[in-house]
Amino acid sequence: MSDQTIAFDWQAADAAHHLHPFSDHKSLHEGRVRIITGGDGVWLTDDQGRRVLDAMAGLWCVAAGYGREELVEASAAQMRALPFYNTFFKTSTRPVIALAERLAAMAPGDLNHAFFACSGSEAVDTALRMARTYWITRGKPAKRIVIGREYGYHGSTTLGAAAGGMKDMHRQGAALPDFAHIMPPYWYGRGSQMDPAEFGVHAARALEAKIAELGADNIAAFIGEPIQGAGGVIIPPATYWPEIQRICRENDILLIADEVICGFGRTGRMFGCETFGIQPDMMTLAKAITSGYAPLSAVMVGDRVAEVLINETGEFYHGFTYSGHPVSCAVALANLDIIEREDLAARAAASGEILRERLHAALDDLPIVGEIRGVGLIGAIELTADRRTRRPFEKTGRVGTICRDHCFANDLVMRAVRDTMVFAPPLIIGEAEIDDMVARARRAITATM
Ligand code: PLP
Repeated sequence: MSDQTIAFDWQAADAAHHLHPFSDHKSLHEGRVRIITGGDGVWLTDDQGRRVLDAMAGLWCVAAGYGREELVEASAAQMRALPFYNTFFKTSTRPVIALAERLAAMAPGDLNHAFFACSGSEAVDTALRMARTYWITRGKPAKRIVIGREYGYHGSTTLGAAAGGMKDMHRQGAALPDFAHIMPPYWYGRGSQMDPAEFGVHAARALEAKIAELGADNIAAFIGEPIQGAGGVIIPPATYWPEIQRICRENDILLIADEVICGFGRTGRMFGCETFGIQPDMMTLAKAITSGYAPLSAVMVGDRVAEVLINETGEFYHGFTYSGHPVSCAVALANLDIIEREDLAARAAASGEILRERLHAALDDLPIVGEIRGVGLIGAIELTADRRTRRPFEKTGRVGTICRDHCFANDLVMRAVRDTMVFAPPLIIGEAEIDDMVARARRAITATM
């Protein structure tokens, strides 16, 4: 590095020129922005030389952990051979064909067809366009409405944000016609005195009520994350998804599982649909598909929808320059090798058990800890003003933000959603690192009280 580079004021340049996603820019630069310079396993390094335990796997994506040489190699080899070619106009490349074939073999049931994009948002956008195109082709153009859920997150394109249930996003230009939302299956926050199994059915029946209100003839699809991640790791009771599936089938409404977070082992099975025992018509994938080493997403489409799109629609006027980018596909193939060879889904199931056991042992005595929940290696700690009555804090989000800052000060990355601390560490996290993570979490929560 030249002297000039060392003297460069990264903080000032970031403040002056960089618009961050999902950030309030006034408060962003009140303190230092943490500049991450390296990663290894579950650890990040920042530009101050501190080691940070990343209990969020980047943004839920670095399943195989940082520093995986074989992913670097796969990327370099593909860049050397063919850095880019598109998949429009009767062309294809070998990495994209190999990946489509592999995903079709991995995905549950008849999800045999893959459409590629770069981000989870684009995958959701694509799935929604496909759902509407499917009904138009079948002579039912009135079937346009998409039903999602409060606290659902389906990305930041305008269609994805409209399908999601984040009110702040709706307020900023993403409230569209032909989208509706139902309650989330959030037992801790909304279950009141019902038992979880009963509450699961109750929450699913909100879909039936919404269909009765809007008319099945006007509804294209229901979209949901098997576990709502960004909305606060809302884990539905086991009764929820089978009931949702029954309602969709009886009303001829397509079921889209948004597996952008749950896919590729996070829930202890390869896909969240398998954990919850359902078979969707479409499934969106991203994030862990490449462990975040390259941007890539996919929509897996079941035979019923694919056959209409392939044989009857004619041209599907949709796609991206980087649909099936060969470098991303090559990285995905090498990453799936790791996930399968190291059996990361089973490892997530086993490590998740250990993590929850250690969290209970370390945190159950803290009065602001209301619930610890998780499936595989995705989980949450509910902070509460009164654990007996589950009363929330007066100003939603204030305590969560304080706790997140204490995590940050303890070199632990956890996210706060309202007053819920959420975590999704890399699936390769080891037992000693779990203990370290739990010790840091205890210090952070204790400091918050
Ligand atoms: N869908 C779900 C379930 C997500 O969690 C996310 C991102 O977190 C998205 C879609 C959007 O993905 P991306 O940020 O890659 O566009």
